[in-house]
Amino acid sequence: MTDDEASLRAAMVATCRKMNETGINQGTAGNLSLRHGDGFLITPSSLPYDVMQPEDLVRMYWDGSYEGRRPSSEWRFHRDILRARGDVNVVLHCHSAYATSVACHHRSIPAFHYMVGVMGGNSLRCARYATFGTQALSDAAIEALEDRMACLLGQHGQISLGTTLDGALWMAVEVETLARMYVQALALGEPPILPDDEMERVIAQMQRMSYGLGPEEEGANDIARPRSV
Ligand code: 13P
Ligand code: ZN
Repeated sequence: MTDDEASLRAAMVATCRKMNETGINQGTAGNLSLRHGDGFLITPSSLPYDVMQPEDLVRMYWDGSYEGRRPSSEWRFHRDILRARGDVNVVLHCHSAYATSVACHHRSIPAFHYMVGVMGGNSLRCARYATFGTQALSDAAIEALEDRMACLLGQHGQISLGTTLDGALWMAVEVETLARMYVQALALGEPPILPDDEMERVIAQMQRMSYGLGPEEEGANDIARPRSV
């Protein structure tokens, strides 16, 4: 194993533990993958994150073959998303409580709040239900993720994508936070939805300001300039 692979495996385990710390993970539900070499690394099936070690992560290839422990039951959607989406390096799946509550009603989350735009469009889609671990679930997820960085999975949970491990974790927490806000907003009745032309402005503004990427990111916040002395 190269030093590079060892540090990536350690970073994946750290991200899994953060899934527990942020409260988005439930028991042994959830799984994580990272593009690497001529395939990807993925969490093993049904191993709690607090006992998981870097060497437990499974190496998988695009043909579905693997080395090491038994891979996550959801390796198909991890493989298919990483293969179909060159813009994505990380796939994170979990059963976070509010996102799953909305998904249990097969509801997508509309633009009730402008932050829906960070997922890439004017709604967070909910994929149709299919049995866990099947090609049918992978096909449904790929469809719901078109032009998006996250989706809900009907009567199941959520998938969040990222170019980095931190980015995918951030997205998953955003999805869960928006789902919680949506459920709470619905308690007062159906909230108004931002119109499509406003969401286009929101998304353009987010792209211009590299919104959500942090203050150090290149191009972040091109509106304000650091004061020159
Ligand atoms: P694994 O433990 O096999 O990754 O499965 C968890 C899960 O969430 C299935 O959808
Ligand atoms: Zn699941």
